[in-house]
Amino acid sequence: ADFTVLCCGGGNAAQVATGLFSIRYKTIAVSFYADEAAKWKAALGDEDFELTLPGGKVVKSKPHDITNDPSVAATANVILLVVPSHAHGEYFEKFAPYMKPGTIVACMPARSGGDILFSSKLGEKAKDMIFCGFETLPWACRFTEWGRKATILGTKNNILAAVSPATAKQAMAKLQGLLGVNPWVQDSPNNLGISLRNPGMIVHPGVMYGRWGPESWDGQPKDESPLFYQGVDEFTEKILIEMTDEAQAVARKAEQLVPGLDLSDACTLKQWYLDCYDGQMTDTSSLKRCMNTNAAYDGLKHPCKEVDGKHMPDLTYRYLSEDVPTGLCFAKGLAEIIGIPTPTIDKVMIWAQGCIGLEIMVDGKMTGKDLDKTRAPQGMGITTLPAFLLASKIPALL
Ligand code: NAD
Repeated sequence: ADFTVLCCGGGNAAQVATGLFSIRYKTIAVSFYADEAAKWKAALGDEDFELTLPGGKVVKSKPHDITNDPSVAATANVILLVVPSHAHGEYFEKFAPYMKPGTIVACMPARSGGDILFSSKLGEKAKDMIFCGFETLPWACRFTEWGRKATILGTKNNILAAVSPATAKQAMAKLQGLLGVNPWVQDSPNNLGISLRNPGMIVHPGVMYGRWGPESWDGQPKDESPLFYQGVDEFTEKILIEMTDEAQAVARKAEQLVPGLDLSDACTLKQWYLDCYDGQMTDTSSLKRCMNTNAAYDGLKHPCKEVDGKHMPDLTYRYLSEDVPTGLCFAKGLAEIIGIPTPTIDKVMIWAQGCIGLEIMVDGKMTGKDLDKTRAPQGMGITTLPAFLLASKIPALL
């Protein structure tokens, strides 16, 4: 049978991935979001999809189908989720009854805890499947004409990814083959390292808290939207350092508790900047300076809404509504399981949960009624380290 790829989603990334993989493989675009699949199918009609590559070369290709029918998972060799992480669970759940053993399910980007969510949604079937978490999307990309044309602005040189179970190395080779020579997919030892590395779970909620939290903002509108990264001040830097240090404590304790567990990719936020933005920062002497002097961040501002010509923060933007549930909640939940106190993460979480209208922490504990809308292990019924390791497919020598 043809090698079959499902590309899930309908935004920038999903359209680009569909255009790219359709060149060589039987590729089916799947979107469960509202009537997006039917709209996309109608927009493309009988035409080819046009993808512009970096350098300007245009390639044409045609997906085999564009559908909202989950049963196409029965023919899939690889299922790629190229959607915002809050949508991952729905795809896992709807595909689960159809997937055949050995299917590779990859999330780009995975954010945190995609592996345990996958195990929880697939139940018994999870043991026969291969989950792959990518730390980020391989491309900077935009559609230029919705459903018909898209552009890859740039391709990363290297990205980290991990497979669960770690023995499924052939899955990594297939995914590298799909993506082509770039980016080089660097094999990370496990998805827990990818989860705890997630920079967005620290940077996005931390910078939002630093600027708009009760310790620094008077609630009054601003004349301009402040710069997001380049505007990081000493107070915000302190919050970020405390949060990344707390996440580090979780990683190091997990390594102690599970002999042989390698979480070296779960690095500090500053180290992540040095790894990923080498050469683009003019001053790397501190975390604040890495962020302030990073050319990749030129002009990027806080998400704001205009009110009477002034600017008020959008406290429901994905920096809180995505990065808290699918990032910070995972790290905090694991911290609670292994007994690591996280006072600054707690402070940011308690503020953020109010902004996004979720009940996550109650009286300092991960027991809120909305935990099942997050990647907190507790929201999936996981409250002990052995249960966590089982869902993560990490063989524990406990
Ligand atoms: P996008 O905003 O274009 O994705 C929109 C799509 O997400 C929709 O078309 C729909 O398919 C799905 N979606 C939105 N809301 C939904 C809902 N409520 N329920 C179910 N599905 C819903 O995002 P993108 O640019 O395609 O990026 C995908 C992911 O990659 C994001 O996490 C993004 O942060 C990340 N990313 C993107 C880029 C880029 O250059 N585009 C770069 C780096 C990382």
